[in-house]
Amino acid sequence: MKIYPVTVQELIPTNAYFYIDEDTNHGVLIDPGSEAERLLSVMRSQGFQLEALLLTHGHFDHIGAVEELRQELNIPVIMQENGRDYAENPNWNLSAQFHGNFILQNVTYQKDGAVIAYPEAPGLHLKLIHTPGHTTDGCIYYDEEHHVAFVGDTIFAGSFGRTDFPGGNEAVLYRSIRDKILTLPEETILLSGHSEETTVGREKNGPIWGRR
Ligand SMILES: [Zn+2]
Repeated sequence: MKIYPVTVQELIPTNAYFYIDEDTNHGVLIDPGSEAERLLSVMRSQGFQLEALLLTHGHFDHIGAVEELRQELNIPVIMQENGRDYAENPNWNLSAQFHGNFILQNVTYQKDGAVIAYPEAPGLHLKLIHTPGHTTDGCIYYDEEHHVAFVGDTIFAGSFGRTDFPGGNEAVLYRSIRDKILTLPEETILLSGHSEETTVGREKNGPIWGRR
């Protein structure tokens, strides 16, 4: 599997990730936060064929390019099932406060434990694991075979997501991180929305979680 990160800049800097089966060049795009045109041009110049857009949660800076990409590519948009509160409410997805009103249409809502896989991308198997706390719909997409997890704003290198937005809850976030992320194999690479990459082992033994 190939990880091709693009830090989009138009709203606030957010890491979007193409996750691509190298044998077929088919895959998914995670958290297209803004700059739809730039993401499309990366996709075309690299020859990537996208099967779906996956969202780690419904905040404006992770969903800003979704509608434009969906209309252009006509592919499913996937969120955890609590995502409807964010997809359909600009006050919850924070676009009303920051950058105009975003509403996502035709989202496919998936439950905790759902496996994202496509015949066109045989190497790709991502498990949706619900990790609420930053938002109620927060989730990670975990590739057990390749030791990679796309974690959105649940955990960052040396830090974690804010809990003061609608649906945020610090105790719930701590529990998600401790029980659902730090229990993954230590070599698992964590790719977040707003930090450099880290690993489960580094965070588990680091200054934030090592002492708790
Ligand atoms: Zn967020």
